[in-house]
Amino acid sequence: MFDRRKFLKVSAASASLAALSRNAFANTFDNVSKSPGFPIVISTWNFGVAANQEAWKTLSAGGRALDAVEAGVKIPEADMKNHTVGRAGYPDRNGHVTLDACIMDEHGNCGSVAAMENIAHPISVARLVMEKTPHIMLVGEGATQFAIEQGFKKEELLTPESEKAWKEWLKTAKYSPVMNIEHMPGSKYNHDTIGMLAIDAQGNISGACTTSGMAFKMHGRVGDSPIIGAGLYVDNEVGGATSTGVGEEVIRNVGSFLVVELMRRGYHPERACKEAVERIIKKKPEYSKTIQVGFLAINKKGEHGAYALQHGFEYAVCNSETQDLLIKGKSAYETSIG
Ligand code: ASP
Repeated sequence: MFDRRKFLKVSAASASLAALSRNAFANTFDNVSKSPGFPIVISTWNFGVAANQEAWKTLSAGGRALDAVEAGVKIPEADMKNHTVGRAGYPDRNGHVTLDACIMDEHGNCGSVAAMENIAHPISVARLVMEKTPHIMLVGEGATQFAIEQGFKKEELLTPESEKAWKEWLKTAKYSPVMNIEHMPGSKYNHDTIGMLAIDAQGNISGACTTSGMAFKMHGRVGDSPIIGAGLYVDNEVGGATSTGVGEEVIRNVGSFLVVELMRRGYHPERACKEAVERIIKKKPEYSKTIQVGFLAINKKGEHGAYALQHGFEYAVCNSETQDLLIKGKSAYETSIG
């Protein structure tokens, strides 16, 4: 499947930290999408290609964006080779696979689960939290209990492969989880999230975000992905945004909400994502070469864009013209870490 991908090489913007603060909007945004219309679905990373194709089945049949994003992100959640999302996700340092997810619809309804164990599809539980409870977020045992009451199967999620990786990690067990940066030689993929945004034929926007979080994180750690406004935000008047990378920094800056609010002011999605990345680094310049954070956004017209701190970030796009497009996102720092 992946050999059919078309790669749209968006020229990467290279900018030093000094240049970043001097001229925040120096880059042109000439290669980014211009009103491709809808229906459309976009999602983070290369595993977004297969996820989008699943979402497209709903969108192309005139279905609702909310149904599309739920169906779409269930693909990487179920993928036994994907160790950063869903059932085969790497565990925390105590050996527990704990999953985070949230979903948001065109009416501003939202639902979320965090640090949930033993349930393979957290996005579907998040949707039921939204639809069947007076709450927005359920965590830990409460989330698992709710899922079981709703008919979900309780299962052990730690796969033999994930257990092996965890036992390997335990040999050194450094307190801080090592964060992967995609372009670093030898970097192990120990975090990454699927964030998906869709606009249906009616022009309504929904989003979903799901992850197993940072591999070998502290037990009970929750990242940005299940937090509305941080890992995901949708405003049907404006657009939607989602994030991937080190969640603590996204939470600190309420990243996805920030991106949507910038689009409300007229920023193109890519420019809004860039501003959000720069906000993070302005506060913590020491992280500029040691972590990865990326945002992905779509506006009401279907224009989309992304921006990451480190290069290597890519996102998948699916609409009536292309079902398997993978776009390289621009980034602030192009050089590898020494
Ligand atoms: N944002 C996720 C988290 O912090 C991880 C990732 O997307 O890389 O849990």
